[in-house]
Amino acid sequence: MIELELTILNPTGLHARPAKEFVALAKKFKSSITVFHGEKKANAKSMLSVLALGVHAGRTIRVEVSGEDEEEAARALEEAVRSGLGEGELINRLQGQAAPARPAPPAQITAQAAPAAAGTAEAAAAAAPASPEVASQTAAPAAETAGEWRGIPAAPGVVIGRTFRLMRRSATIERTSKGARQEKELLHRAIDQARGDLQQLVEDMRAARRDEAAIFEAHLELLADPELIEAVEAGLEQGLSAGVAWDQQIAERSAVLAALDDPTLAARAADLRDVGDRVLHALAGTQAYGPVRFPDYPVILLAHDLTPSDTAGLDPSRVLGFCTAAGGPTSHSAIIARALSIPAVVNAGERVLEIPDGTLMIMDGTSGRIQLDPDEAAQQQAREQQRRERERREAAERMAQNPAVTRDGHRVEVAANIGGVEQAALACSIGAEGVGLMRTEFLFLDRATPPSEEEQFAAYKAIAEGMQGRPVIIRTLDIGGDKPLPYIQVPREDNPFLGERGIRLCLNRPELLREQLRAILRAAAYGHLRIMFPMVADITEIRRARKVVEEVRQELGAPEIEVGIMVEVPSAALMADMLAPEVDFFSIGSNDLTQYTLAVDRSHAVLASMTDGLHPAVLRLIKYTVDAAHRHGKWAGICGELGGDPQAVPILVGLGLDELSMGVPSVPLVKMQISQLSLAEAQDLARRALECATAAEVRALAAEFAARLEGQN
Ligand code: PEP
Ligand code: MG
Repeated sequence: MIELELTILNPTGLHARPAKEFVALAKKFKSSITVFHGEKKANAKSMLSVLALGVHAGRTIRVEVSGEDEEEAARALEEAVRSGLGEGELINRLQGQAAPARPAPPAQITAQAAPAAAGTAEAAAAAAPASPEVASQTAAPAAETAGEWRGIPAAPGVVIGRTFRLMRRSATIERTSKGARQEKELLHRAIDQARGDLQQLVEDMRAARRDEAAIFEAHLELLADPELIEAVEAGLEQGLSAGVAWDQQIAERSAVLAALDDPTLAARAADLRDVGDRVLHALAGTQAYGPVRFPDYPVILLAHDLTPSDTAGLDPSRVLGFCTAAGGPTSHSAIIARALSIPAVVNAGERVLEIPDGTLMIMDGTSGRIQLDPDEAAQQQAREQQRRERERREAAERMAQNPAVTRDGHRVEVAANIGGVEQAALACSIGAEGVGLMRTEFLFLDRATPPSEEEQFAAYKAIAEGMQGRPVIIRTLDIGGDKPLPYIQVPREDNPFLGERGIRLCLNRPELLREQLRAILRAAAYGHLRIMFPMVADITEIRRARKVVEEVRQELGAPEIEVGIMVEVPSAALMADMLAPEVDFFSIGSNDLTQYTLAVDRSHAVLASMTDGLHPAVLRLIKYTVDAAHRHGKWAGICGELGGDPQAVPILVGLGLDELSMGVPSVPLVKMQISQLSLAEAQDLARRALECATAAEVRALAAEFAARLEGQN
């Protein structure tokens, strides 16, 4: 037997990709290979068991190799770990920086928020009937009133239809063993069936929905885990039935993963349970939803919640909308609803599952409102709302290429927030007058190494060209907080939103910043680019950052470029008069400004109804910032979600913002909305909003304003 002590150099530890490399290599040898980490022990050929070791960067593992090819195996493993398990280049790069002294945070990737209107349930209820469609992902507490329910709006749009419950069935587990040999046969037949179904699913999804296909590829890997199968087989030898042994092992292993205090692994636990269920149903000869016989008309689907496998089994052409009892706006069900453009309400409470099939329902994915057995008048009203939304969208698209000018001649620039090259062309075609925010972190996410200068240059150049001379604000890397990266070492933080994120992180990693600035300054020759720094909290940060811009510019011999900052930390808003002379423009990041002003985590599921950017405290900071910018002859825009929120638009125009930037689909609607306003009325509305005491009061005011305007038009 050979014993090795190996230090794991990978920045995310023995997780995900390095673990996969390690396991794949171990499987090539006949020897038995065991890994020890602290008290824990794992079979090196089992992905599940290696993951469950929870080995972080810089930790040492002990490996025991025993068998006919032990020498060869030990050498190969030692070499592979030393050379970084497929991440050698990344490790070399990072070793130029501080070595990982503490465990790295998990490589957690947060998807870009779709256009969302911040709003509470009450606020949504107060929305004017003509309120344009809004993809609101903002959580609101589930509430119920007579004949009318409320959940969390998850994907916009109103639907009228008959309900159909998708009841998940637990598989019946046969508890009596027919003998080890027969149970083993049953087990493997069930695993084969599950594998076949999953392979088919991956095949079906690969072309259209690659991300979802990857979920099921991971499921296949879990299904093939030798240690899991070995443990189940041991159970069969001890007289357990295949169902009982399998169920026990899945429960135990998913509990171990879930307890690792690591969001990436916790998500794996849910996946493992999903795989477990698949095999149990195959053993029982059933399906999670039984033979789903959809009615021959499209339905509003009611379910407890939807797992990845559930959604794959659904036929979008038969589903008008979803309503789930559980789940939040970032749950799988919500993500899928938005991806499929299916109106959805989530977290509506268990009672939705008591609604008999075939019940007539109106579901409003914009407000989260559900109405059961609506009378003819309510149905008529909902149809009217659908018609108005459709007409409004069509009218907005017809005039999308016109500038947004109020009835009394005040022009407001309407720009788009984008996260990649493809969206630039779309933004242009839909009437965006520029890009108010290009979130560059999407070039950096979902990969093991940072993008090179050339790669970044190519992307920024393509965007500059795609926008055909319109201004494009490239925000420098805004990472940290909710968006950690595997190749950037940030020691674990108790409050990452208050930690090393945005400009703080870039200033601490000058090479990363310089590389990005070089790419932007070079690409600026191909269009109209501006640079924007995120998370500025103090004047010294912008001074230091501008100094780097100037150094890089001189190195390149590039022309000067406008440099602005995001105002998303209350200190920046309150110091706006001091900051204004240092910059060319401000852009309000209302998402973060709201979370920091109200001290509510922007992704907090329970407190979500408290984070409304229309809170008067936030509006006062916006006003203060805009006024300071104007006093110094600078312009101020907004690129947080509030900029595309129809209830906020008149108030923001009234507060004097020069540019509103928003998710691409909102551009035409907001342009049309501005053209229907008068600046004088908007200013009056803004004045009254600043005097309100709560966000709900502001929303009520905005709703009343919209209703009055609707009456006039
Ligand atoms: C914001 O905070 O409002 C913003 C636009 O930045 P992000 O959402 O990317 O943090
Ligand atoms: Mg922000």
